[in-house]
Amino acid sequence: MPSPRSPGGLVYSTEGGRMCPQCRHPLDACTCQAQAAARLLGDGQVRVRRETSGRGGKAVTVVRGLPLDAAALQALGKQLKAACGTGGTVKDGVVEVQGDHVDKVLAWLNARGHAAKRAGG
Ligand SMILES: [Zn+2]
Repeated sequence: MPSPRSPGGLVYSTEGGRMCPQCRHPLDACTCQAQAAARLLGDGQVRVRRETSGRGGKAVTVVRGLPLDAAALQALGKQLKAACGTGGTVKDGVVEVQGDHVDKVLAWLNARGHAAKRAGG
């Protein structure tokens, strides 16, 4: 529990002040957004799979289940794209790398301690 007295000497009042209904902190100390940002997006069952996307049917390598928060997943996606020398996206907890790089991505993830498995055909 934080001290009721902030370093500035202000005292939070729980009576009459506006409280966040979710985290029950005063609104100006609401932790909901920080918690959402720190939430792990994946379940730790890391799966790598080649899929085709878009009308052109171009191959993409899709990584799901990485137990990372949004910021860490963005950072990993960036490194992974660089490692594969290609582009891609990170969206909704899923990393997409353009092209068929399943073997490379599996090796890259496993080298970094993620027990990634191949999924699909
Ligand atoms: Zn809140």
